[in-house]
Amino acid sequence: MSKTLFEKIAAREIPTQIVFEDDLVLAIRDINPQAPTHLLIFPKKPVPRIAEAAPADHQLLGHLLLKAAEVAEKAGLNQSGYRLVINNGPAGGETVPHLHCHILGGRQLIWPPG
Ligand code: 5GP
Repeated sequence: MSKTLFEKIAAREIPTQIVFEDDLVLAIRDINPQAPTHLLIFPKKPVPRIAEAAPADHQLLGHLLLKAAEVAEKAGLNQSGYRLVINNGPAGGETVPHLHCHILGGRQLIWPPG
Protein backbone atom coordinates (compact mmCIF):
# COMPACT_ATOMS: atom_id res chain seq x y z
CA MET A 1 0.00 0.00 0.00
CA SER A 2 1.26 3.50 -0.78
CA LYS A 3 2.39 5.72 2.06
CA THR A 4 0.16 8.48 3.38
CA LEU A 5 1.35 12.07 3.27
CA PHE A 6 2.14 11.96 6.99
CA GLU A 7 4.02 8.67 6.64
CA LYS A 8 6.15 10.36 3.97
CA ILE A 9 6.74 13.31 6.29
CA ALA A 10 7.70 10.94 9.13
CA ALA A 11 10.10 9.16 6.75
CA ARG A 12 11.65 12.57 5.81
CA GLU A 13 10.57 12.06 2.19
CA ILE A 14 8.71 15.39 2.34
CA PRO A 15 10.44 18.23 4.20
CA THR A 16 8.53 19.97 6.96
CA GLN A 17 9.17 21.67 10.28
CA ILE A 18 9.08 19.04 13.00
CA VAL A 19 8.33 20.34 16.49
CA PHE A 20 8.18 17.06 18.42
CA GLU A 21 8.87 13.41 17.77
CA ASP A 22 8.98 10.21 19.77
CA ASP A 23 8.64 6.58 18.78
CA LEU A 24 4.85 6.80 18.42
CA VAL A 25 3.92 10.30 17.26
CA LEU A 26 5.18 13.27 15.27
CA ALA A 27 4.17 16.93 15.59
CA ILE A 28 4.72 19.36 12.70
CA ARG A 29 3.80 22.89 11.64
CA ASP A 30 0.77 23.00 9.33
CA ILE A 31 1.70 24.13 5.82
CA ASN A 32 -1.41 26.35 5.64
CA PRO A 33 -1.82 27.78 9.14
CA GLN A 34 -5.29 28.84 10.25
CA ALA A 35 -4.04 30.54 13.42
CA PRO A 36 -0.74 32.09 14.56
CA THR A 37 0.12 28.67 15.98
CA HIS A 38 -1.18 25.74 13.93
CA LEU A 39 0.46 22.41 14.60
CA LEU A 40 -0.52 18.88 13.63
CA ILE A 41 0.23 15.83 15.75
CA PHE A 42 -0.30 12.36 14.37
CA PRO A 43 0.51 8.75 15.19
CA LYS A 44 3.24 7.23 13.04
CA LYS A 45 0.91 4.27 12.63
CA PRO A 46 -1.35 5.22 9.70
CA VAL A 47 -4.76 4.95 11.34
CA PRO A 48 -6.89 6.54 8.58
CA ARG A 49 -9.26 8.45 10.85
CA ILE A 50 -10.66 8.34 14.36
CA ALA A 51 -13.75 6.41 13.17
CA GLU A 52 -11.42 3.61 12.09
CA ALA A 53 -9.35 3.43 15.26
CA ALA A 54 -9.51 0.03 16.91
CA PRO A 55 -9.77 -0.91 20.60
CA ALA A 56 -6.11 -1.96 20.31
CA ASP A 57 -5.25 1.71 19.55
CA HIS A 58 -6.50 3.02 22.88
CA GLN A 59 -3.04 3.48 24.38
CA LEU A 60 -1.80 5.15 21.21
CA LEU A 61 -4.76 7.54 21.22
CA GLY A 62 -4.19 8.44 24.87
CA HIS A 63 -0.53 9.06 24.09
CA LEU A 64 -1.49 11.25 21.13
CA LEU A 65 -3.69 13.50 23.30
CA LEU A 66 -1.20 13.70 26.17
CA LYS A 67 1.56 14.66 23.73
CA ALA A 68 -0.74 17.17 22.03
CA ALA A 69 -1.15 18.90 25.40
CA GLU A 70 2.63 18.82 25.99
CA VAL A 71 3.34 20.24 22.52
CA ALA A 72 0.74 22.98 23.07
CA GLU A 73 2.36 23.88 26.40
CA LYS A 74 5.83 23.99 24.81
CA ALA A 75 4.38 26.25 22.09
CA GLY A 76 3.38 28.69 24.84
CA LEU A 77 -0.37 28.20 24.47
CA ASN A 78 -1.30 27.12 27.99
CA GLN A 79 -2.05 30.53 29.45
CA SER A 80 -4.16 31.86 26.57
CA GLY A 81 -5.75 28.54 25.71
CA TYR A 82 -5.94 26.57 22.50
CA ARG A 83 -8.11 24.17 20.56
CA LEU A 84 -7.54 20.54 19.57
CA VAL A 85 -9.45 19.46 16.45
CA ILE A 86 -9.84 16.09 14.75
CA ASN A 87 -11.65 16.21 11.41
CA ASN A 88 -13.33 12.94 10.43
CA GLY A 89 -14.61 12.26 6.91
CA PRO A 90 -15.76 14.63 4.17
CA ALA A 91 -18.34 16.61 6.15
CA GLY A 92 -15.85 16.92 9.01
CA GLY A 93 -13.36 18.62 6.71
CA GLU A 94 -10.82 15.78 6.60
CA THR A 95 -8.42 16.15 3.67
CA VAL A 96 -5.53 13.88 4.72
CA PRO A 97 -6.64 10.29 5.42
CA HIS A 98 -4.15 9.69 8.23
CA LEU A 99 -5.46 10.47 11.72
CA HIS A 100 -4.12 13.76 13.03
CA CYS A 101 -5.02 16.29 15.66
CA HIS A 102 -4.81 20.02 14.92
CA ILE A 103 -3.41 22.24 17.69
CA LEU A 104 -4.65 25.78 17.12
CA GLY A 105 -3.86 28.84 19.18
CA GLY A 106 -2.47 32.34 19.31
CA ARG A 107 -5.77 34.07 18.54
CA GLN A 108 -9.34 34.01 19.86
CA LEU A 109 -11.10 31.07 18.19
CA ILE A 110 -14.79 31.35 17.58
CA TRP A 111 -17.55 28.87 18.38
CA PRO A 112 -19.37 27.29 16.64
CA PRO A 113 -16.60 26.52 14.11
CA GLY A 114 -17.31 27.05 10.41
P1 5GP B 1 -7.40 17.87 7.61
O1 5GP B 1 -8.04 18.81 6.62
O2 5GP B 1 -7.27 16.49 7.02
O3 5GP B 1 -8.04 17.86 8.97
O4 5GP B 1 -5.96 18.44 7.88
C1 5GP B 1 -4.89 18.24 7.01
C2 5GP B 1 -3.91 19.37 7.24
O5 5GP B 1 -2.69 19.02 6.65
C3 5GP B 1 -4.33 20.70 6.64
O6 5GP B 1 -4.48 21.68 7.67
C4 5GP B 1 -3.23 21.02 5.66
O7 5GP B 1 -2.91 22.40 5.63
C5 5GP B 1 -2.08 20.19 6.18
N1 5GP B 1 -1.14 19.79 5.15
C6 5GP B 1 -1.45 19.30 3.92
N2 5GP B 1 -0.31 19.01 3.25
C7 5GP B 1 0.73 19.31 4.08
C8 5GP B 1 2.14 19.22 3.93
O8 5GP B 1 2.70 18.78 2.91
N3 5GP B 1 2.90 19.64 5.00
C9 5GP B 1 2.32 20.11 6.14
N4 5GP B 1 3.15 20.49 7.12
N5 5GP B 1 0.98 20.20 6.30
C10 5GP B 1 0.19 19.81 5.29
